Amino acid sequence: MRRLALVLTSALSLVAVGCGGGEAARDERDGKLRVVASFYPVAEAAGRVAGERAEVTNLTPAGTEPHDLELTPRQVDQLEDADLVLYLGGGFQPALEKVASRRDGAKVDLLEALPLEKGAAEEGEINDPHFWLDPALMEKAVERIEKALVDARPENREEFERNAATYRAELRELDARYKTTLSNCRRRELVTSHAAFHYLATRYGLSQQPIAGLSPEAEPDPRRLADLTDLVRRSNTTTVFYETLVSPEVAETLARQTGATTAVLNPLEGLTSEQVEKGAGYVSVMDENLAALKEALGCG
Ligand code: ZN
Repeated sequence: MRRLALVLTSALSLVAVGCGGGEAARDERDGKLRVVASFYPVAEAAGRVAGERAEVTNLTPAGTEPHDLELTPRQVDQLEDADLVLYLGGGFQPALEKVASRRDGAKVDLLEALPLEKGAAEEGEINDPHFWLDPALMEKAVERIEKALVDARPENREEFERNAATYRAELRELDARYKTTLSNCRRRELVTSHAAFHYLATRYGLSQQPIAGLSPEAEPDPRRLADLTDLVRRSNTTTVFYETLVSPEVAETLARQTGATTAVLNPLEGLTSEQVEKGAGYVSVMDENLAALKEALGCG
């Protein structure tokens, strides 16, 4: 049935373009690469670099948080059938990692190309995967994605290079806005829900104080909360940040106990359906984060 629908689509597009059937008939997908991305920032980057040349599927649905994603049988099929799979290894999404690593086709673990650092000591020797919250590391990942797309479809090299250059320029401008805005702040402590902002904090001279660990699912332990209450009071922290895809309950309790307020700092692990509808993207959400940081830290 699916095959029939695809054939029909191809036939219709042939009618639409009139001649030029050779190109459109190259396969049943109008020659588009099937790229599967493990979660939002990777899907956005792949989509931006590939442009019209690929159909990018994001395996983490809108409104869900990607850590430890469970796969449906259909998603396992998509992972196996894709022309290219882009994912993060290192235990970020173990179920997906397992399927991706056993497939024969092209696959790229983006973490392998990046200079990562270990997470908090209590989580052992796990590399912190949250590179995308540092625009400079995101730029490096975009270079890796560009290379993977060129390898998969060399005849579109120029187009991929052009698209990647445009996107990377946007990331560099974003980085410059962060540097300027965060260069002169009254406070440097960044109290966050889970430990997603280490690379961002390091790049802009902030100090991340997370309630939970590298995964938002990790229960915050009472001692950690007591220490944080202390730190928030001592450092005159005005804002406890929470996330869009995780319950704000603990952040709200901490804020109440210390007289701080709460605000959203989005770890960009996914967009909500509402954000998707509004056309939000990586750069626009990062700019919202910057505005929230400026306000909370008293910058400028
Ligand atoms: Zn995370």
